[in-house]
Amino acid sequence: MAFAQVGAMVQLKNMALFKSQGLIGGEWTDAHDGRTLAVNNPATGEIIANVPFMGKVDAQKAIAAASVAFQPWSKRTAFDRCKLLRKWFDLLLENKEDLAKLMVLENGKPLAEAIGEVHYGAGFVEYYAEEGKRVYGDIIPSPFPTKRMLVMKQAVGVVGAITPWNFPLAMITRKVAPALAAGCTIVVKPAELTPLTALAAAELALQAGIPSGVMNVVMGDAIEIGAALMESNEVRKITFTGSTHVGKILMAAAAKTVKKISLELGGNAPLIIFNDADIEIAVKGALHGKFRNTGQTCVCVNRILVQDGIYDEFAAAFTKAVQELQVGNGLEAGVTQGPLINEASLEKVDKHVQDAVSKGAKVLVGGKRHSLGRTFYEPTVLCNATDDMLIFREEVFGPVAPLMRFHTDEEAIKMANDTEFGLAAYAYTENIEHGWRVAEALDYGMVGLNETLISTEVAPFGGTKQSGLGREGSNYGIDEYLELKYLCLGNIKQPFMC
Ligand code: ADP
Repeated sequence: MAFAQVGAMVQLKNMALFKSQGLIGGEWTDAHDGRTLAVNNPATGEIIANVPFMGKVDAQKAIAAASVAFQPWSKRTAFDRCKLLRKWFDLLLENKEDLAKLMVLENGKPLAEAIGEVHYGAGFVEYYAEEGKRVYGDIIPSPFPTKRMLVMKQAVGVVGAITPWNFPLAMITRKVAPALAAGCTIVVKPAELTPLTALAAAELALQAGIPSGVMNVVMGDAIEIGAALMESNEVRKITFTGSTHVGKILMAAAAKTVKKISLELGGNAPLIIFNDADIEIAVKGALHGKFRNTGQTCVCVNRILVQDGIYDEFAAAFTKAVQELQVGNGLEAGVTQGPLINEASLEKVDKHVQDAVSKGAKVLVGGKRHSLGRTFYEPTVLCNATDDMLIFREEVFGPVAPLMRFHTDEEAIKMANDTEFGLAAYAYTENIEHGWRVAEALDYGMVGLNETLISTEVAPFGGTKQSGLGREGSNYGIDEYLELKYLCLGNIKQPFMC
């Protein structure tokens, strides 16, 4: 039924990638009680598929399958695991058009961005396939003549991964690839709004030869599934990307079984444009940094702080660039701005705009719902924004760019750091010495200097303060899935003296 529906709306080259069941122990599975959940196209409101609405019982089965698979998978060599992950990477790229189409259907992002996400997401698989071979230990110089001291790194065990809807593929691979490379097995709970890309990726993992039970996917009742993962003694690590609110719930729940936990939570990214910036470069950076994924990423620019000397010139050039954005269904050629994920998101965006306007902000472009209706909002630029507005404090998670004026460096850095979040920050200046000092002063996990597109599998992604714990991507990211084991060899006799 669901198969036919998606077939009628969009033709995938490989319809085997259209899965509408969970994956437990290598078996495509319905919810134990048969309940289902509709997945909607945010651009049209149409139902794309009905997937299982799973709960605690299903999550427990998936945890059990991952536990059974853990010993054999962790005992394989990293070279062996690398071959399978590498095959998965190849299959992800071979099927990139289909994966991208599924992503547009369930998430709404423009097709070109979705193709970009397949490359970005697959990049984690390629990177960690190799990185698994470099999980080195240490030999520690011993303070005792009769003892030798070593450190080895071992897979932490079964991992629970909970992911959001804004990057339906990359948020999965960013967690699954390092976990599997380290020798862990995993239970993934994708966002209920976007499970189809995750299921297609899991199908490709099976096709690549990754054994049954190594990667399991369950979705449905987030609270029940979350509780099953948190309560289980088998699950030794939780990796979460999502809201700070849910992150805090999971962090508290992790205490019960003392799990390792990494959290990638909300942001409130400032973009500071100094008088000594190249305005053309800054406009491009602001456009990409703000409007990517229709403003729905945790590293999206949330506040644009512009120095007095170039404020008016920047505001005019930026507004002109924003007017050129094309709003529409992500599958249509030329569209650069898709819908918001749902109507609740649109309400929040509109609330931020109304609040800002009521407190003195001026709309330079946009500022209202788009004529396409439902989930579409006009790309918006506001000037005269101030720190008493909601948009200064909270992530707007939509296509709204508020401009704020500042005079001195100190004022800009104070405004930028005046938030409980600390994920990404950006600054534009042509003076490297100036940029360096600014980068050091920003209390954020990631800083882009003259650049707002900073995410890549080779660099550590993560935040300070209430933006989270731990890092994903890069050589640092695999440590989240490894335990250190200290080994002390005793009673070593005198060294040979020959
Ligand atoms: P967003 O606002 O981006 O949807 P959420 O934090 O609500 O962020 O959701 C991110 C992920 O967390 C989703 O997969 C969602 O289903 C899941 N989630 C939401 N609430 C809970 C919970 N109480 N326990 C576990 N997972 C949850």
